Amino acid sequence: MRYISTRGQAPALNFEDVLLAGLATDGGLYVPENLPRFTQEEIASWAGLPYHELAFRVMRPFVTGSIPDADFKKILEETYGVFAHSAIAPLRQLNGNEWVLELFHGPTLAFKDFALQLLGRLLDYVLEKRGERVVIIGATSGDTGSAAIEGCKHCENVDIFILHPHKRVSEVQRRQMTTIFGENIHNIAIEGNFDDCQEMVKNSFADQSFLKGTRLVAVNSINWARIMAQIVYYFHASLQLGGPARSVSFSVPTGNFGDIFAGYLARNMGLPINQLIVATNRNDILHRFMSGNQYVKETLHATLSPSMDIMVSSNFERLLFDMHGRNGAALAELMNSFKQGGGFSVEQERWTETRKLFDSLAVDDAQTCETIAQVYAETGEVLDPHTAIGVKAARECRRSLDIPMVILGTAHPVKFPEAVEKAGIGKALELPEHLTDLFEREERCTVLANDLKTVQAFVSQHGNRGKPL
Ligand SMILES: *Cc1c(COP(=O)(O)O)cnc(C)c1O
Repeated sequence: MRYISTRGQAPALNFEDVLLAGLATDGGLYVPENLPRFTQEEIASWAGLPYHELAFRVMRPFVTGSIPDADFKKILEETYGVFAHSAIAPLRQLNGNEWVLELFHGPTLAFKDFALQLLGRLLDYVLEKRGERVVIIGATSGDTGSAAIEGCKHCENVDIFILHPHKRVSEVQRRQMTTIFGENIHNIAIEGNFDDCQEMVKNSFADQSFLKGTRLVAVNSINWARIMAQIVYYFHASLQLGGPARSVSFSVPTGNFGDIFAGYLARNMGLPINQLIVATNRNDILHRFMSGNQYVKETLHATLSPSMDIMVSSNFERLLFDMHGRNGAALAELMNSFKQGGGFSVEQERWTETRKLFDSLAVDDAQTCETIAQVYAETGEVLDPHTAIGVKAARECRRSLDIPMVILGTAHPVKFPEAVEKAGIGKALELPEHLTDLFEREERCTVLANDLKTVQAFVSQHGNRGKPL
């Protein structure tokens, strides 16, 4: 399988190189040159497979030529072996034909584990073979950091530095990062905000001289391997609800457009999907595009669903690429004008075509809490605020009651107690078994000034399993 850049000017890469690449050299994102397509018979034959075996069948075409089948199978078995639920991604029924796909049974209780548990293992496998080491520097406002640390903690060939804004992540989220120990794990609290952290990561990618020749790898959702891993659970959900003979719809709590883009790919790979709903919070650039063909940046608002607090959705470029007939030059122009401060609209026919599949809704904090309360009253289930946004959007945008509606349950409610409390749910939420002592555990974290040179000096001092690079 070869991968090409959405901006058409970077060399095509194989899977191994795309795994290590991050952004393409032309500023674009990598996508498969040709998407695999499965027949209905083939998909139907996968019904009842254990999750890791389904994952093997769905993802195999993407890694062909880079990872032998037997090795890939073993990696997948290990990856999904760490999940706390035997179904890995169980479906829970809310209402008639309305389901939540629970993606929060991984080590850090959010769907990001599905991709980052795999990414860590893939990186280590590929690096071992090449005899190389890499450094990961990532910025997090919460979920990504802990999932990346959990995913990489056993990696022999990876040192991971996660920057979070000091005193600005929730206690559960902080402890999920700082209580994981290993000589290759480094938590840095920056005396600044999330944007400061992200800016430092960006600048570090732009000039990597402080790494003395060691390669820097991206773990944010622009990494193709993360998207790839997320395609699997769309197949998994559909097969449990009568697919592929029957079509299924999905509502996806959305920030960077990674998770829902995986659903779009599943459909293009042959899975019958009727409708994809983009559910956003008040940071609604994607909803404004889907409802009014306007892609315009606005101020960032802090919400009760912080993992979806974004101004711009990085993975949306991958959909725009397809929308424009995979014309890299057109995309480069569009993204450039966007960067110059302009928003954009796409040609009417392209937008209309996109809307045949996608619907959207923006849900504010008050509606989020209302939905949490409503679902609790109906079913006794406590939803996390991100999932609640998905439920609200599903209920507002649903086109057919005959088609099963699956809402992606992106996080466990215990991670976001503030929203649950505001929804008026008195019941104390319990941490899952593997985390019951989270609040007693020792923490390790270094507080650093909001200064790029200080942070880079720290990385080069500790980037080789705690020793200097
Ligand atoms: C990351 C995250 C999202 C948003 O996913 P994208 O792929 O960025 O659209 C939604 N909910 C939770 C809980 C998350 O951690």
